[in-house]
Amino acid sequence: MTERVDLLVVGGGIHGVGVAQAAAAAGHSVLLVEKTALAAGTSSRSSKLIHGGLRYLETYQFGVVRECLRERSILLRIAPDLVRLEPIHLPMYRDGKRRPWVIFAGLSLYALLARFGPGSAFSRLKPAELDRLPGLKREGLRCVFRFHDARTDDLLLTRAVMSSAMDLGARLWQKAECLGLRLTQDEVVASIGHRGEQREIVARVAINAAGPWAAQMLDRVTPTVGRPAIELIQGAHIVLTDPVVDRCYYLENPRDGRGVFALPWHGGTLVGTTETRFHGHPDKVSPRKSEVRYLRRVMTHFFPEPMRSFSGTTGSFAGLRVLPASGEHAFRRSRETMLAVDRETGPRLLTILGGKLTAYRATALKVMERIGHRLPDRRARADTSVLPLKPPENLPDA
Ligand SMILES: Cc1cc2nc3c(=O)[nH]c(=O)nc-3n(C[C@H](O)[C@H](O)[C@H](O)COP(=O)(O)OP(=O)(O)OC[C@H]3O[C@@H](n4cnc5c(N)ncnc54)[C@H](O)[C@@H]3O)c2cc1C
Repeated sequence: MTERVDLLVVGGGIHGVGVAQAAAAAGHSVLLVEKTALAAGTSSRSSKLIHGGLRYLETYQFGVVRECLRERSILLRIAPDLVRLEPIHLPMYRDGKRRPWVIFAGLSLYALLARFGPGSAFSRLKPAELDRLPGLKREGLRCVFRFHDARTDDLLLTRAVMSSAMDLGARLWQKAECLGLRLTQDEVVASIGHRGEQREIVARVAINAAGPWAAQMLDRVTPTVGRPAIELIQGAHIVLTDPVVDRCYYLENPRDGRGVFALPWHGGTLVGTTETRFHGHPDKVSPRKSEVRYLRRVMTHFFPEPMRSFSGTTGSFAGLRVLPASGEHAFRRSRETMLAVDRETGPRLLTILGGKLTAYRATALKVMERIGHRLPDRRARADTSVLPLKPPENLPDA
């Protein structure tokens, strides 16, 4: 049997659920299909920060930082049970690549881009306060800056947004894989494998929110559509079972100048991340031994004592960033979300590439702006900038 919907969303990561919520809020009928489970991909393997991305200032990505900081303040307001502000400590050493005045200037700009709203306060710790940072290497320490960003549980946030979308009428099929999309003159005919059956869905527009699988999804589209030039960059985290840090740190690795976060996480310590080119199938992503070694080495450098007495275990996980293909180091590449359409006029298929967990809501609004004219007129039901998000109960497949 063929079903009809205004919008079909492929992929239940943060972008897919964000679009489902935005479309349902605009009054549209929405079906989201997810081949595994919500947030099974990148959206449960991030650093779990709702942040502007202080480091993107170095590559002049002011637009991305401003947008993410605006979204941070919205999420702090609408999702207080899921997103909370935390002080982040940024120690500076004599052998570091950046000077304290550069960080001071960066933090001032960060506060300005946050419009001096919640979380924009920052300071340089007084010498007496440095004694209250247990375990941190003191040798060569020049100073420590304290600024603020927000943290979340990415899996719970994704589920909360889907729950909100479902309250607005969106439907969710998990363990439902989009096997093919056939573009007709005005619509999209999708073939979905769900509960051992192959089902057909006709949608006005389909959204390819398959994250690192987006290119594979495009290979399943007929007639063939263009494939944007993208690259997958792996990011690994380690989880130390001991509480090596008692607060959040942003550490500058003296070897390569890269920033690494060390954060308290479920009684242990979450440390990440890396940037490693990835050439395999996204299903097969897993942390490399060299990445685990790299992150442990950073921790041993900055927290020598607690790491020496560390007796727990080291877990790890990895996710994939979707970045524009380029010869540049991943660190310097744009983190702007890319929206690619099958045709400029009257798109039937829109693909979301890259982006940030933090900016999912803004991305969803941009998607709706790009395809809204293709959807039937409906009465809007809600405004996602004020709709509260709550940690979800069970989400039924509808
Ligand atoms: C290491 C790392 C750290 C990060 N840290 C942060 C951070 O701290 N803060 C931040 O703001 N951002 C962060 N990001 C970015 C952020 O995590 C991602 O931009 C975001 O999670 C991407 O979500 P997505 O929905 O596009 O993709 P995904 O979450 O990967 O979702 C895609 C989904 O599509 C499904 N799918 C694929 N193919 C099909 C198909 N054919 N049919 C049905 N379903 C399909 C998959 O199962 C998957 O669930 C980080 C990214 C990485 C890699």
